[in-house]
Amino acid sequence: MSLTITIPIKAAPKEIEEAIARNQRILETYPIIVVDRQGGDVFKTMKNATYFKLDSSFWDARRFALERVETTYVLCLDIDTVLPENYVKEAILKLETHPDIACIALDYEAPYAQQHLAFGTSVWRTKQLREWYDWSPPKGGLCECVYMWSKMKTLGLQVSTLEMKAVHLKIKQEPKVTRTTTPPKIPSPHAHPQLRNKTHKHIILRG
Ligand SMILES: [Zn+2]
Repeated sequence: MSLTITIPIKAAPKEIEEAIARNQRILETYPIIVVDRQGGDVFKTMKNATYFKLDSSFWDARRFALERVETTYVLCLDIDTVLPENYVKEAILKLETHPDIACIALDYEAPYAQQHLAFGTSVWRTKQLREWYDWSPPKGGLCECVYMWSKMKTLGLQVSTLEMKAVHLKIKQEPKVTRTTTPPKIPSPHAHPQLRNKTHKHIILRG
């Protein structure tokens, strides 16, 4: 087996069953390392999953999982994300044939498109990601994806994608999509659905 799926769970969305069902083919094909803080119990009984309960930050959970990967490639999957069925296979193929590419990732389908590729879909060479992954907030207010993509750029490496999109399940409120004639070249971290959700929750708590 050439790839391991790592899934850090901070607080599982109510769509977790749907995400598992819709990612079933991918989840059945590769070994899985789950680092669960809350709500990911469903993985305890999954045959090919190694389950850890860990009360840590999301980024420490990513690192914890990454340290336990024994395969050449690793998929960093967020549990609110549905991947196209042939994505992982094609991503590995592209990495194998393009040594200058650091990782492959996808953006989400509309209406949750971020205008940047999502870290929670990314496929990497395990050894390299282990060396490079150092995201934790605030990092200049950049989301995990934008921070890591700019880091790859400074290392002189490409972040690439494939002709497909992932589906984001978590955000159910009406997305505030700003319509511009040309998409911004440097994406704003505010366009990130997870961060947008955080802001939303924050407002509710204060109200
Ligand atoms: Zn992002």
